[in-house]
Amino acid sequence: MSTSNINQRSLNQAKAFLLDMDGTFCLGDALLPGALELLELLNRRGLPFCFLTNNTSHSKLDYIRKLRGLGVREEDARVYTAGDATIAYLNKHHSGKKVFLLGTPSLAESFCEGGIALSESDPDVVVIGYDTSLTYDRISAFCSFVRKGLPYIATHPDVNCPTPEGPVPDIGAMMSLVEASTGRKADVVIGKPNPGIVNALTEEWGLEPEELVMVGDRLYTDIALGQTAGVRTVLVLSGETRREDLANAKNQPDLVCENLTDLTWDIIN
Ligand SMILES: [Mg+2]
Repeated sequence: MSTSNINQRSLNQAKAFLLDMDGTFCLGDALLPGALELLELLNRRGLPFCFLTNNTSHSKLDYIRKLRGLGVREEDARVYTAGDATIAYLNKHHSGKKVFLLGTPSLAESFCEGGIALSESDPDVVVIGYDTSLTYDRISAFCSFVRKGLPYIATHPDVNCPTPEGPVPDIGAMMSLVEASTGRKADVVIGKPNPGIVNALTEEWGLEPEELVMVGDRLYTDIALGQTAGVRTVLVLSGETRREDLANAKNQPDLVCENLTDLTWDIIN
């Protein structure tokens, strides 16, 4: 049972759920407590849900495969990534432009499938994604395009990515490196807490943002969506955030739960 900041009414009025993956639903290759039970309950209640992840080191298909491998049914493995949201943003605001992408081969593949032209030597726009294949040459090339003043977009703001061995540097840490070298911050940061990542889903479901509940483990991305997108938020303490972090946090959740077992219990009651 959750122990603080309870806003049970928001939970009872929820018409759809957005679920973070890393630190909320799973950690590495293991499910976190209550993960499959929550999906079962949402299905039983006829409440739609979608996994919303800022992690862009893998493609959407990789995440679907991962969820399937964790025992999630095919029809439940619906995923929207910060990579998908970035592709949608580029097609809308930089249509037909060439992009220099710092990202894994699978992110590059999803960009190509999404109709984005990639260029190593003559880009119009630069995009930084979570890149576990990063080399000094590529970050150096990225910085030189940023120094030239090209529009600079980041797929998401996360500083660290949780892993079973502890946090590892994510894009936010790389952006600090780029800023130290070039003096520039990203012009646009897509992904949570950018409301764009939620809009596509409210449109698809025909729901208002306040009818959606975002469940996540991180204050400055998942829970910040409450302020930026107007959704309700549930913080789970199974990932990055410790209960003591809440006292001084700018973004306060509507509900705090230890994990998804705790949340399932709160929805039932
Ligand atoms: Mg997370």
